[in-house]
Amino acid sequence: MINSENPNNKNKCPDCEFELTVPSDTEKGEILSCPGCGLELEVKKTSDGGGCIDLQELTIEGEDWGE
Ligand SMILES: [Zn+2]
Repeated sequence: MINSENPNNKNKCPDCEFELTVPSDTEKGEILSCPGCGLELEVKKTSDGGGCIDLQELTIEGEDWGE
């Protein structure tokens, strides 16, 4: 029998809902690129048990903020 255990976590891109595969050794603060739309996503939260990774759209602040 094939062991179907998957070491990766599935997450959906908040923008295009592309199903992203996030390696279980991904660390908080890492930046991932969505293959679907190219959006950059920051890993906001990880769980040791896996299956609980929060991705948030990486917002690039302009240089004129706080004008
Ligand atoms: Zn996307």
